[in-house]
Amino acid sequence: MSKFLDFISQRLVNFLPNELNAQELSQLLWPRNHSLLLSRRRATMIVNRVRFFAMLFTLLTPLWGVIDIIVFSPSLWVKLALLRLITTAAFAALLIFYRPNGSLFDAYRAIAILFLIPTLFYIASHSLLSNYELTNLSAAVASGYAFLPFLLMAGLAIFPLSFAESLSLAGTLLIAQGLAGYLNWSTLNWPSFAGGFWLLILIAGVTTLASASQLAFMITLVRQAIHDPLTGIFSRGSGKEIINMQWAGAKRNNQPLALAFIDLDHFKEVNDNFGHEAGDNTLRQFAAELGKNLRDSDSLLRWGGEEFLIVMPMTSIDQALQAMQRMQKVGFGTRPDGVPLTASIGLAERINDNLQDPEQLLALADNRMYQAKQAGRNRVCATELPDQAIAPN
Ligand code: GH3
Ligand code: MG
Ligand code: MG
Repeated sequence: MSKFLDFISQRLVNFLPNELNAQELSQLLWPRNHSLLLSRRRATMIVNRVRFFAMLFTLLTPLWGVIDIIVFSPSLWVKLALLRLITTAAFAALLIFYRPNGSLFDAYRAIAILFLIPTLFYIASHSLLSNYELTNLSAAVASGYAFLPFLLMAGLAIFPLSFAESLSLAGTLLIAQGLAGYLNWSTLNWPSFAGGFWLLILIAGVTTLASASQLAFMITLVRQAIHDPLTGIFSRGSGKEIINMQWAGAKRNNQPLALAFIDLDHFKEVNDNFGHEAGDNTLRQFAAELGKNLRDSDSLLRWGGEEFLIVMPMTSIDQALQAMQRMQKVGFGTRPDGVPLTASIGLAERINDNLQDPEQLLALADNRMYQAKQAGRNRVCATELPDQAIAPN
């Protein structure tokens, strides 16, 4: 039995991209452990896909009306045309007014609206068609309207979703289908309804796997895109996103946000004396040392060559200064010859320095790092007057 389970779990693991690590597997089950950056990118992707399909249906819904004109009587197609007009307007509104904003909640709502519009169209056209005696071609086209639930279920496959998300969306569609059957109980063709329902469940299984495998690829791609390959910490691009996000949060809640700009002292010497490879190792070790001494809410990122940033939400300038001085005491590791590494650090804080945007925060921290260099390196500068604020080691 355990061999059998091993076999099954091995097939499942091989189904996923190799680059996915064990800790990321749980992220496929539900979105709870997703990083903020992953959630934002996923929300953006979902809304963009919703908008793509909204555009497609804005074009296709009126076009399909031509077929209505050919096969249905005028009294029927005129009513259907009116329905199509309303539906087209709804799709167009979704396309025009819905923009990605990084919120997962808004992304879920976008999917719900995208599915709700054709569902309402389906219900309305279904009840309309049931009032008419249809023959041959018109009956064939009318029965085509009944394929919508299958199309919606298959449509789930275009979104990168965790198992929990897929199952709740697919579950909603199944419940809706069951409800439709229940409401038409008296006239229900049982065998065909049960067959359809079973098919819907099978499609739900396939789309759930498709969505999860999209999510798996997305998790690995996002991880590779947002991290610096040398040190493994956040890269400059994602760093900017983190700073902007933290700035927005700090401003909304009127909380402090401190930023440390750290530049290694005389790093060129390390490269010149010990080679570039040794320089790389020193950078790796430096990033690891910094990372050890951070709070969970802090973010460490590599801004460039030997320049690093620490983003510290809910941290006053005094607290940030203390934290940096503590780090200086602990040390940043050593050069290949055993000499301790030192760094010059510039500190700025949103409220204390009365800053207006994240660019100013960054510029001020950079500027103070430069002042720390000028005043002799291996120190922290947290005010406009370096002599008062600098804390030599
Ligand atoms: P100071 O900041 O104290 O003024 O001196 P410094 O020597 O650190 O300053 P500078 O900015 O002139 O030099 C930075 C050096 O960092 C230049 C480059 O050789 C090295 N460097 C930048 N990126 C990397 C990298 O990815 N790997 C290695 N090994 N070295 C790098
Ligand atoms: Mg530099
Ligand atoms: Mg330097």
